[in-house]
Amino acid sequence: MKMNNEPLILIVEDDEAISSFTSAILASNNYKTVKTGKGKDAVSMAASYCPDLILLDLGLPDLDGIEVLKAVREWSNVPIVIVSARGHEREKVEALDLGADDYITKPFGTAELLARIRTEIRHSRRNQSRIGLAETKIIVNELEINYDKRRVRVRGQEIHLTPIEYKIVSLLSQYLGKVLTYEYIMKNIWGPYTNEIDSLRVNMANLRRKLEDNPAEPKYIITELGIGYRMSDAS
Ligand code: CA
Repeated sequence: MKMNNEPLILIVEDDEAISSFTSAILASNNYKTVKTGKGKDAVSMAASYCPDLILLDLGLPDLDGIEVLKAVREWSNVPIVIVSARGHEREKVEALDLGADDYITKPFGTAELLARIRTEIRHSRRNQSRIGLAETKIIVNELEINYDKRRVRVRGQEIHLTPIEYKIVSLLSQYLGKVLTYEYIMKNIWGPYTNEIDSLRVNMANLRRKLEDNPAEPKYIITELGIGYRMSDAS
């Protein structure tokens, strides 16, 4: 493990401008980078460099980014953040279902890029170091979730949630900053053989009414249109 070194990011991107922009941002934020514009090289570099994270463009000249994802996932759990164009929601969902950890949409800004990378590296380190100390509570902004007591508070005020609402908010909170697809959330809440997308939407609307100051501009649970939901990790 490279806990004390600068994390190494493999940038897989055939657009030279985006690739240079990305590596410049990462270099000035204490990441090391290696780059390639080819899918085949990406697969071999993932093995030879063992990066801490892979930023993977899905539109590559020689090999579809999805194929790179599948090849790397055969042997590695390295965090993979896919880079995709606006409007390609189906492609993003496919990649997430195949084991990508998150996505970022082109054109992206510095803050968004760094937030995604920080979140993924933090999650993967937490998983690697399974020390058996499960967190008993989590605090995001003015929201506090106590897993032991199954209690949710906003600004110290207890919020009464239904069992389903509690399950949804506690699931999202265990993956702070990370997108969870509708499919993933539904399977976790209602089991594998159901399609409860309407129930999910209704429960989400109720949750927001209870948790958010302004449900139309949620600050805790963010909608990723056509993909799923993400709980903000701004604390
Ligand atoms: Ca491309």
